[in-house]
Amino acid sequence: MYTGATKNLAVIGYPIAHSLSPVIQNTALTGAGLDYAYIAIPVAPADLPAAVAGFRAMNFRGWNVTIPHKSAIIPLLDEIEPAAAALGAVNTVINNDGHLVGTNTDVIGFIEPLKARLGESGLEGKNAVLMGAGGAARAVLWALLSADINNITLAVRTPAKAEPLAEEFRRLDKEHFSGTAEITVVDWAGEEYPVALAACDLLINATPLGMAPHTEAAPPVDWQKLKAEAFCYDIIYTPAVTAFLSQAAEHGHATLNGEEMLVGQARAALEKWTGCSGDKEAMLKALRSALEK
Ligand code: NAP
Repeated sequence: MYTGATKNLAVIGYPIAHSLSPVIQNTALTGAGLDYAYIAIPVAPADLPAAVAGFRAMNFRGWNVTIPHKSAIIPLLDEIEPAAAALGAVNTVINNDGHLVGTNTDVIGFIEPLKARLGESGLEGKNAVLMGAGGAARAVLWALLSADINNITLAVRTPAKAEPLAEEFRRLDKEHFSGTAEITVVDWAGEEYPVALAACDLLINATPLGMAPHTEAAPPVDWQKLKAEAFCYDIIYTPAVTAFLSQAAEHGHATLNGEEMLVGQARAALEKWTGCSGDKEAMLKALRSALEK
């Protein structure tokens, strides 16, 4: 039951009706007995400054930010945490008594489930192949560099589009991390791709290939080249088992889908707002049941 003392949280985007965040966050809030309400609010791009001023005026404790506002919100906030500043993308705002802090919890959402499988330092010195070089790949790249990965090969269909991203993250690695990671771009139809696959310890799909409703699609992988112990991670969460993960499992690889990343970024945001990250299993269950509907 909401009362006069209930604190407010939200997610903004445009459109926003598809967002699963209210289901995930309200499950956690109710389960933890926290007196907060979390709602989805559509905010058109031209209205973003007014919306931010409104949240501040109405003393919302915080809010999530999704497409198309992740970059546009940055100049409207008082402080941007380093990862969010480097990525140029804020997905969470924390309102500390009128001082608005922007952060990015996609990074932690991506890396924590992986570390839970591979160990805290399980990525150190390893080689990753990252398929896709869009918005989500940016958080993945930052996370891999923060985990001391040795080598990242961006395998894509349009190398010319991925090259500036690789260059940007070579610079970010030097500015924020060890500066020793090798980042290269290959055409996934070219001859260098099988060579990268043969050295790969972690193969990640960050393209939308295989996402519902086009569930038959998958990025190209020569499974004969991949080492048996290579770990396969698809950040897509619908369907739970993409064609890529199904092929990986058939070839004996350990796999992980994007459900925990989605719930992980939500839990990291909730922790920043309330000090409590919520019941992970209950949040995953709520996500799966919402996806089934
Ligand atoms: P995006 O910015 O549109 O980037 C997509 C990337 O995939 C680009 O490099 C693009 O290459 C490539 N791509 C797109 N369609 C392709 C196709 N038909 N064939 C080959 N390559 C293709 O998307 P995004 O925001 O990064 O999201 C990517 C996926 O991650 C989505 O499925 C999304 O649901 C998922 N995701 C999951 C989470 C989570 O929490 N689990 C969070 C964020 C995103 P071009 O440049 O050549 O077009």
